[in-house]
Order: sequence, then structure tokens, then C-alpha cells
Amino acid sequence: MKNWQQVYSSGQEESDVASGMQKVMPRAVKIPPWRQGQAADIDGLPRKEGVVVGLFPGGVAVNVEGQELLCNLAGVFRPPPTSSALAVGDHVTVALTRAEHADAQGDDKLRSDGMILSRSERKTALCRPQPRSGKRRDQYETQSFTKVIVANMDVLLIVVAVRQPPMRAALIDRAMIVAQRGNLAPTLVVNKIDLDEPDEDILAEYSRLGMTIFRCSARAGEGVPALAAALAGKSSVLAGASGVGKSSLINALVPGASVVTRAVRKSDQRGRHTTASASIYQLPGGGVIVDTPGVRELGMDMELSELPWYFPEFEPFAATCKFNDCSHTHEPSCAVLAAVEEGKLPLARYESYLRIFESVEQD
Ligand code: GDP
Ligand code: ZN
Repeated sequence: MKNWQQVYSSGQEESDVASGMQKVMPRAVKIPPWRQGQAADIDGLPRKEGVVVGLFPGGVAVNVEGQELLCNLAGVFRPPPTSSALAVGDHVTVALTRAEHADAQGDDKLRSDGMILSRSERKTALCRPQPRSGKRRDQYETQSFTKVIVANMDVLLIVVAVRQPPMRAALIDRAMIVAQRGNLAPTLVVNKIDLDEPDEDILAEYSRLGMTIFRCSARAGEGVPALAAALAGKSSVLAGASGVGKSSLINALVPGASVVTRAVRKSDQRGRHTTASASIYQLPGGGVIVDTPGVRELGMDMELSELPWYFPEFEPFAATCKFNDCSHTHEPSCAVLAAVEEGKLPLARYESYLRIFESVEQD
């Protein structure tokens, strides 16, 4: 196993998160050159604001006034210098091109509805360190790239069930940290309270760590009005294991689940690397709830090498552990453990570290 301190990047990354200036891998959006629009002919086109709901090798799905458009990147598209790509939730300006290209001899290459001209700066960015891909070309990438999973959300709804499936604390830990690092309010939704009582001792611990907690039953409707009131006017995104009741919650929160976006049109769906796009639901009290595959799976496939990213405050201590590859779990002369004992690091965070460490080892 690689010494995780070497993979860790200090300081820099943390402040980038705080300022919403995420570094994004340029290759997060792969648009073939022939897909990129020309700057020359876009001046006269109508422009609209939209929200990115999906990224595909062949283009970007953008929700414009409730309609999903497949867009290219305009030749003039220049993302802010510190981040060169798009993420679900990004606010973009699109030049509508469909009419212009409709007569283009049915050429598949030109089948797009618009070109993305620019994107707004991100208010928040839910991200994770880029998983190892083996394709790394330089150290810089290895050390500091994080991948933005969704932008501009206010709340991360971490959904768990009291049982069916059983609650996994390590997943809650991971999601909570990712939310806090991305400037989102971490909110725990304990669903299926019609089945059993939640473990209030565990919940009290999360509450101490800064988590807002709701208890509800999407099925029986209990606790749903309180959750709806808290989410009104905000942008929330759902995370949680399969079967905990995320879809049921959407139906409980959004009468008639007036789906605003869906997967891209059939005609654009030609197999290959097609991934599902995000769904955005309008809440009756204002605001939106976003369901996107990338966040649903948040933290499920974590690797040990990502661990330091979750606990940046350990780093100054970890540097003086006796062993370079100290895991801070059992080693002698572990400076992290000493810091916890001296009260220089919060015990709750260290316990969270242990839970995540153990769960990653088991996976
Ligand atoms: P998702 O995979 O997280 O979207 O979960 P679903 O919404 O599809 O729900 C999974 C299963 O749990 C379904 O059979 C639901 O009917 C059930 N379910 C959802 N919410 C509740 C609840 O509050 N109480 C009970 N008893 N079952 C629920
Ligand atoms: Zn140590």
C-alpha cells in the first residue's frame, strides 16, 4: 500500500473547496473536436440559461426551461481558469442551434440543440478525490485533483433506513465529510421509522458532529412535512444506499413527482458509454431536489488512498508518526493517536476515521 501522506495534498485543496474554485480534470468532459462549435456563427443565435443534468462522451445534457437539450461546447467556451470542466448542477449559458443545424443533410455529427458558451462560478461543489486510474501523467494530478460530482447544491440529503437495509455508519461518515468539505449542509434522513426505532445514541453522535437529522417514514408520511419545510427554497441532492427509500421520499415530497428532466432522448442514446443523467424535481414549497447517479453512489467505492482527503486535519500530526505508512490504528508512536489523547484532535472525528478505515478494508 502506498504511503497515504505522499498522496495527500495539504492546505491548497482545502481553501479551493471553500472558495468553490474546484480543480477539475479537463477530461471530465470529452467532447470530440468535430462536436465543438465554431465561434463564427453563434453571435446571432438566441441564448438561454440552463442547468447541466448530464455529461456524456458526445455532449452535455442541459435543462433549459424544463426541456433537456443535448449540447456541445462552443469554440469560445472558456471555463474559469482553475476548473476546466462541467458538472451536474452547473449553471450555463447556451446558444440554441437546433434550427440552424436541422438542414445539415441529416448528419449525425450536427445533431445538437445548443452550444455551451459559458458557465457561472460554483457556489458549492460536492466532490471526491479522483480515484486512481493509472492514467496519471504528472504528480500534480495525483496530488490535487478532485472530481466535482454536483455543483451549486445547498443540502446533501444522506438517506438511511432504520432497517432494510441496515444503517452503515461508515457511509454516513463519508457522506457527511464530503458535504462539509463541499460547503453543503449535511442532513441525515432516517427513513422507515414505521419499521423500528432508530438508534438514538448513534444519531446523537452525528448531531454533535454538526449534522441536521430528520426521522420519517416515506411510506406512512410521518415526518415528511417537517422535512419538506426544511428543504423549501433550497437545492438538495440525494445520497444513500439502494433500497433506503430515496425514490419513495421524492414521491412523498413532490406530489405527482413532476419530473422535470429525464434521461436523454432515445435517438441520442446509442449505447456506448451512456450514463443516466440527473433528475431534477421542483419542490412545492420552492427549490429543487436532485437525484443523480454519481451522488447516489457517493462513498460506496472508496479506496484507502482517498482517506487522507477526508481527514486533512490529521496531516500535521501524521507527518511525525514513527512509521511513514502509519495507519493511525494500532502502530506504536502514532502522533495522530497521541493528538487525540491530548485533545488536539476531536475524538468524534477519530472514531469516524476508524469506522471509515475499517469499512474500506472490508470492502
Ligand atoms: P431507493 O432505492 O433508495 O430509491 O429506495 P425505494 O424508494 O425504491 O424504496 C425501497 C423499498 O423500501 C421499497 O419497497 C419501498 O416501498 C420501501 N420503503 C420506502 N420507504 C419506506 C418507509 O418509510 N417504510 C417502509 N416500511 N418501507 C419503505
Ligand atoms: Zn499514525
